[in-house]
Amino acid sequence: MTASTAIPAFPARDYAFAPWVDARNLIGGQWVDAVDPQATLDVINPRYGRAMATVTLSGAADVDAAVKAANSALPAWRALPIRERAQVMFRLRDLMRRDRDALSWLLSHENGKVFSQAAAEVDKAIECVEFGCSLPNLAAGTQLEVSRGVTCELRYEPVGIVACVTPFNFPIMVPLWTLPQALVGGNAVILKPSEQTPLSMVALGELLREAGLPDGIFNVVNGGRAAVEALCDHPGIQAFSFVGSTRVARMVYGRACATGKRALCLGGAKNHLIVVPDADPQVTIDNIVASFTGCSGQRCMAAANLVAVGNVESIIEGVKQQAAALVAGKDHGAINSAASVDRIRGYIDAAEAGGATVAVDGRRSAAPDAAGTEGYWLGATVLDHVRPDMPAAREEIFGTVLSIIRVDTLEQALEIENANPYGNASCIYTTSGEVARRVMGRVEAGMCGVNVGVPVPREPFGFGGWNDSKFGVGNITGWDGFRFFTRGRKVTTKWALQQDWNWMA
Ligand code: NAD
Repeated sequence: MTASTAIPAFPARDYAFAPWVDARNLIGGQWVDAVDPQATLDVINPRYGRAMATVTLSGAADVDAAVKAANSALPAWRALPIRERAQVMFRLRDLMRRDRDALSWLLSHENGKVFSQAAAEVDKAIECVEFGCSLPNLAAGTQLEVSRGVTCELRYEPVGIVACVTPFNFPIMVPLWTLPQALVGGNAVILKPSEQTPLSMVALGELLREAGLPDGIFNVVNGGRAAVEALCDHPGIQAFSFVGSTRVARMVYGRACATGKRALCLGGAKNHLIVVPDADPQVTIDNIVASFTGCSGQRCMAAANLVAVGNVESIIEGVKQQAAALVAGKDHGAINSAASVDRIRGYIDAAEAGGATVAVDGRRSAAPDAAGTEGYWLGATVLDHVRPDMPAAREEIFGTVLSIIRVDTLEQALEIENANPYGNASCIYTTSGEVARRVMGRVEAGMCGVNVGVPVPREPFGFGGWNDSKFGVGNITGWDGFRFFTRGRKVTTKWALQQDWNWMA
């Protein structure tokens, strides 16, 4: 095992291609090579389609090494008072603010987001760390005199070693959805980032070390399926959290639960935005376009289907015009891979062949840089007259594509929304409180917006959808996240021992 500790800072402060260090595992405070390598992959900068680093996929022996390191470090960490554990989050917040630009540029390079959207992700990640800072003030358990001289007290205890598996689309924010609660809760973490975007976790691992987190409390195991399955199966891991596609979320939820772990697995999405004629045109147009093109549509909260109720023609026209004016590479970033571009184009082609209108055609957008880059690009695309039975209306496309479905009544819109198997986000655009109230009471989604196209619940509210968008109970962020990573211990105490009272006295 070759170990290294010196990681140079990511050098780029613009979009010019920049290579960086290879992603290695962080085990017990050391960056090390995989001992059970399965394969080595390129980490591609999607703007250029060029490798900026490599990542070696780990196997079960690497997961086991991380569990051993976590086990050694855990007793001292969990013995610290929660306020002392939270100090690491205060320091991490300051370090992330110090390095905001460097982190954002690294994120932009490994994921393909434009800088402004990468910086917004880093800002949101910092907000998650701030929630971790606040936990000592929230985590006071309750205590009650349940009977004369008898008190019952609730304490939040760590679960032990926890695994967090994350997707490519938010390489720093999604890991920080869970890390603050897991770490401040007194656990040791093994994080498995997406093999497509493992570099942000190299930067975060360095910052956590600088923030004074003891070695072995935060471990990174890079990998793909083999590493994830080893995390599900390892008997030394007590909790398993996952964020990614529904297909994998469903699979790993069952696998982790089968070994007795508590599990919370968030999956994909197909978000419906309903527009009625009394909607404010400009607010609605701006919001819908930002929702479906932000982060190149590669976010689980992105608008996917615009369900147009009655005559909302001027809003539809506005959406098309604004989308057509967007410039790939400036207003939104690249798509993560060539395979994803092919998949997304396939949905557009199939919708067109099935009778939908390609009102704004992102297939024609070229790479944005005159420098002749060969990255993975697709412009904003608006499909009109999409039928609810088309794949473009039913399946997660995960790209800069909006499908417009036209209906006559709000009831028809709700039926379409309710019929989709996902349940992440849903939104209504209206100026009527009565309509908003009706829709918010009926949509099958865990995160809903009124005139808000990306209704992410901000801290301290918890992030989590319904139905096929989530397997397990509770939300992954906020207070639910802390509850997921802790166990309630009830301590019943009686000091004034009385011989003449029975056990209920
Ligand atoms: P993905 O499911 O392909 O990968 C997610 C993680 O699972 C990665 O770490 C990957 O290495 C691992 N993985 C992939 N295949 C696996 C397998 N067969 N067995 C075990 N592990 C496997 O997802 P992605 O492409 O990285 O991310 C995009 C998806 O994530 C979209 O569906 C998106 O909607 C979803 N997502 C959901 C949320 C949410 O909060 N609900 C947030 C972000 C992304």
